[in-house]
Formats: sequence, C-alpha cells, structure tokens
Amino acid sequence: MKYDVVVVGAGIAGPIIARNVARKGYSVILIDKKWAIGTPKQCAEGISVKVFEKYGIPYDRRFINREVYGAKLYSPSGYELEMRYKDVSGVILERKVFDKMLAYYAAKAGADVLARTEAVDVIRRDGRVAGIKAKHEDEPVEIYADVIVAADGVESTIARKAGINTYAPPHEFDSSYEYEMLIEGYDPDLIHLWFGNEVAPRGYVWVFPKDEDRANVGIGINSDNPQTAKYYLDKWLGENRIPAKKILEVNVGVVPVGGFVKELVKDNVLVVGDAARQVNPMHGGGMGEAMEAGTIASEWIIQALEEENITLLQNYAREWWEKEGGRLEKILKVRKITEKLTDEDLDLFIQLLSGADAEKIAGGNYFEVIKALLKNPKVLMSPRRMKLLRQLL
Ligand SMILES: Cc1cc2nc3c(=O)[nH]c(=O)nc-3n(C[C@H](O)[C@H](O)[C@H](O)COP(=O)(O)OP(=O)(O)OC[C@H]3O[C@@H](n4cnc5c(N)ncnc54)[C@H](O)[C@@H]3O)c2cc1C
Repeated sequence: MKYDVVVVGAGIAGPIIARNVARKGYSVILIDKKWAIGTPKQCAEGISVKVFEKYGIPYDRRFINREVYGAKLYSPSGYELEMRYKDVSGVILERKVFDKMLAYYAAKAGADVLARTEAVDVIRRDGRVAGIKAKHEDEPVEIYADVIVAADGVESTIARKAGINTYAPPHEFDSSYEYEMLIEGYDPDLIHLWFGNEVAPRGYVWVFPKDEDRANVGIGINSDNPQTAKYYLDKWLGENRIPAKKILEVNVGVVPVGGFVKELVKDNVLVVGDAARQVNPMHGGGMGEAMEAGTIASEWIIQALEEENITLLQNYAREWWEKEGGRLEKILKVRKITEKLTDEDLDLFIQLLSGADAEKIAGGNYFEVIKALLKNPKVLMSPRRMKLLRQLL
C-alpha cells in the first residue's frame, strides 16, 4: 500500500488531519488499533462550544450529550465560585460517537480509514522513514507514505520509533480515574470542580453532566503520588455520601501536563496532539489543543505535498511553537506555582474570587484574576501569598 500520508491514531488530531489533507485530493490512510474507533473513551468529554465552528465540525446532536453554561468551583472548606453565562459555553460530548464521526468525515473527504490496525514499527529506506509496519486484524501489512503522522495519543510509540525524543518522567503526567454514573444534587447545566491537597493532589475532582442525573465523575492527580487516583475518587465519593452503586462505565487514563515534545517534526514524520503532549497543563484538556495542532499540521502537509518539498513540514513545528507553545508554556508556569498553594490559600482565593469578574476567570485571563487578588488586604498581609501571586504575573 502506498499513500501520500499515513496517519496513525483516529482520536481527535488524526481524523482532523486526514480529513483536511484528503479534501485537497491527496491520498491518505487513517489507522487505529481500536476495533471500534472511539471506544473505550478515556475522557471527561468536556469541550468549548467554540471548536465546532472553528474547526468545521458539524454541531451534531448525535455526539452532544449536554450543553453547559459555565462552571462551579469548590474550595477545600466548601467556598464556592460560580461562573454562569447566558449562552452555552461548552458541551459534554459522547466521544465514542464523536471520534467515530470525525473518522467518518475523513472517510467522506476521501481518506481510507482502517480500524483494528495497529502500527507496530516504522519502515526505514535509505536512511528515512518510508512508512509503517502494522497489524491489520492480526495480519501484517506495510503502508508506505511520503508523510507519516504520529497522532497515536499519550502512549505514542511511533514518534519514538521514528527517532523523536518523547520521553517525560512520571511526575509530568497526571493519573485519572473516572466513573460514568448516576448522580444527583448537582446543577446539570454547569461543570463542577473540587480542589484541595487532600481532595486531589495537584488536580481536581470533576462532575461533567451528560444528562440531568448522569455524569462523568472523575479525578486527576499527580502520577507519582503513592496513592492511586481511584483511592482519592472513592474517598471523595464516600465523604460526600454519593453512592457509587450505579456505575455505567469505568475509565482510566494518563494526561501529559508537564511540558511539550520539543521536536515536533523529524524529516517527514510529524507528532501531533497528546503524542506531542500538546495539552493545557492547567486543566488537562487536550481535545481543543489536538484540533489546533492538527489544523496547523495539515496546512503544512498540504503545502509540502503541493510544492513537493518535505522540508516545509518544519513550519508546523515553528508555527505551533509561535501560536500555541509559548501560550501553553506560560500556563505551565502558572500551574507549577499553583501546586504550592495550601488548602487555606485555595479557600481564601476562591472566596475572594467569588466577587470577581467571572468572564475574565473563565476566559483564562489568569493575569487579571491575579491582579485582583493582589489588591486584597488578606493577600497584602501575607508575604508568602504576595510572593506566590507575584511569581504568577
Ligand atoms: C480521564 C481523562 C479525561 C479527560 N478529559 C478531557 C476533557 O474533558 N476535555 C478535553 O479536552 N480533554 C480531556 N482529556 C484529554 C483528551 O482526551 C486528549 O487530550 C485527546 O483525546 C487527545 O487527542 P489525540 O488525538 O491526540 O489522542 P487520542 O484521542 O488519545 O487518540 C489517539 C488514538 O491513537 C490510537 N493508537 C494508539 N497507538 C496506536 C497504534 N500503535 N496504532 C494505531 N492506533 C494507535 C488510539 O487507539 C487512539 O484512538 C482527558 C483525558 C483523560 C485521560
């Protein structure tokens, strides 16, 4: 088999690239090791409503479980910060359908799509990667291509096999555990997040509603914690007297939150999405980042094929670092400083912010938020808090 482009991984980044490149008339194959693309999910399924228009994805009720209008944050001692909007701010997807539909859009655009096809190695010819060795329904297949895309998620092997250094220590990942379950008593029009060093070290507990009484209830904590994420999630459910007796799914996963793969392109191989650790290190959301990186990557793949000049692929790395990498590096710096916050700090900040401009907080304008906190007398009187907050600016 010979294609212009082989894309390994039909999560979020992979199908976006396959669709965009196939639309321009190039031959593309998108492969995924899953028997059913999208299943199992490893996700809380929350995403900004803006992505549909931005990335040309239909707003299709088949994969939208619920529209949400904001978020509610809870501090360790129970202070609450609610950010509610008039308009829909995000949606909780059904990723099993969403990922499959993204692959369907790629197929409709002209790409070949093969489920149950696992890339196991790269093929090298004349010192460069010439394709992928895969197992399709247990049969070995060789797929040759001019461009190889590693969109194979956080456990990515293909980029490494192509010689790209993707190593990161365990501390740079969060471990997640999640139940899709019946749950009552939480406003189903908001997402809910609980913070605290005893609740979820370095992370948070989330309730993302998929229905009036059904939600993804999960947790992310630092991977090198001596306790498991499941331990903390079960503890939180127990402490909040939430019966864990109507569990429809159990999901586990790892989220890269500690920095980004530096070398995004090596010759004719690109690494995109979670495989490149292109995730917002503050909240661990990676779908929007995968869509953005996939869009930038596809533009340069098309350009490289049009001009028959593989060196143009390097522009994906340059453009991603310019547009996204710098912004995400700043967010990573903020995240690392927030790790030093005590439960008392979290209580105080959430209490103080409950009077602040919700638009700015939810819009991720951390700097405005920090400036507001710095003016508060309770912060002014604590040199440690002042120092922490100043570091964030
Ligand atoms: C518990 C949890 C909750 C999350 N919640 C959210 C959230 O609410 N919102 C959000 O935006 N992000 C969330 N994320 C992150 C989000 O899921 C990822 O950032 C996003 O899916 C990345 O997309 P991707 O295309 O890079 O990789 P993936 O979606 O992981 O897709 C990679 C694909 O590659 C396939 N694959 C892997 N290896 C091979 C191989 N060798 N051969 C063939 N196929 C292969 C896999 O089967 C998979 O389908 C969450 C993550 C976890 C773990």
